[in-house]
Amino acid sequence: MEAAEAKKVPVPTIRRIPSYLRLLYQFQAEGRRWISATDIADSLELKPIQVRKDMAFTDITGTPKKGYPLGELIDSVRRFLHWEKLNQAVLVGTGVLGKALLSYPAFLDTGLEISAVFDSDPSKIGSDIGGFRVGDVAEAPGYVRENGIPLLILTVPVEAAQEAADRMMEAGIRGIWNFAPVKIYTPPEVFVQQEDLFAGLAVLTERTHQGG
Ligand code: NAD
Repeated sequence: MEAAEAKKVPVPTIRRIPSYLRLLYQFQAEGRRWISATDIADSLELKPIQVRKDMAFTDITGTPKKGYPLGELIDSVRRFLHWEKLNQAVLVGTGVLGKALLSYPAFLDTGLEISAVFDSDPSKIGSDIGGFRVGDVAEAPGYVRENGIPLLILTVPVEAAQEAADRMMEAGIRGIWNFAPVKIYTPPEVFVQQEDLFAGLAVLTERTHQGG
């Protein structure tokens, strides 16, 4: 238990890793084969020590003076995020936001595979959104149970969020990417990642008006 706790990766590290990965793909496209922590740090305006500390949580070891072999580093970072395999998710709520997420093709590069989408609106059920046939949300728990789907992307209105999450957790969902601006109550074994675009917007407007 203590060893497992000691290895717990800080959330800021986890949040930085996708930006490393995007940069590594860019270096790979340029034909680079080795990359140093300093190269990464300079490009992302971080300190090399920070990058080294973050990389230490992955299973790669750098070589003095050369850095990291780029291909191996990409593999190692993807393994760290569990993006080397597809993480299956269902999306519930195919409104404006749900549709926008469904039409974003780069999800597959992140190892996220949306395998089914559901809504409660009879006018949407059976329709096609971005190549997905919208299923009846009443059938969602059965689908999750039968297919062992671990992740739920929740894009329903606030008032529907907890109940929709409850049904899906009963069916075995272990992680919820919650876009509804409301706290979802879960048992300790279910992880909720709350997403809020307006948190970023708040920083933008506050900083833009600083001093003015
Ligand atoms: P929307 O009204 O366009 O879509 C909501 C969809 O959910 C509809 O298709 C509706 O039929 C469906 N729905 C309602 N109850 C349901 C249920 N019980 N089961 C299944 N489907 C159900 O709304 P939207 O603009 O797409 O926003 C969706 C959610 O995302 C809202 O909670 C909104 O506040 C939130 N949102 C969050 C962010 C963010 O930054 N996190 C940004 C925009 C919107």
